[in-house]
Amino acid sequence: MTDTTSSCPYCPLSTAAGEPPGGWVYRDDLWLVHHGPAESSRPGTMKIVSTRHYTDFAEMTLEETVSFGSLLRALDAAMRAGTDAERVHLVSTRDRVQHFHAWLYPRPASHALRGTDFLNAPQRSEAADVDLAAEAVRRHLSGPAPVSG
Ligand SMILES: [Zn+2]
Repeated sequence: MTDTTSSCPYCPLSTAAGEPPGGWVYRDDLWLVHHGPAESSRPGTMKIVSTRHYTDFAEMTLEETVSFGSLLRALDAAMRAGTDAERVHLVSTRDRVQHFHAWLYPRPASHALRGTDFLNAPQRSEAADVDLAAEAVRRHLSGPAPVSG
């Protein structure tokens, strides 16, 4: 079942024509994964969006709960293999857009900041680096079924 609300900016993602910058890194019946916007994301930043409209972890079906863990595991491995990430930080507040989504931020070993100091620092990418990082993560992604479509 897919619930949608007309005012939700993320509900149309699963049926929209076209692809996000860098292309879909992963998509299946439950999840969409794409690179974050260049103007506010360092290269390799990924956003996971549920295909179904709900807000909180507590609203996940058992299938969504289990597959989210598998997807996180696969993306953590692919992001550390495909970017210079030593660690991948997970953030999911859902305060602005109340459609389930989570951000994965690659933190390089060489970066001066750690933890929330790193997350609070300004981030940006060049468009070409978004394409390269999205392709690198896509190439290293294994575990869930490969990207279809
Ligand atoms: Zn929605």
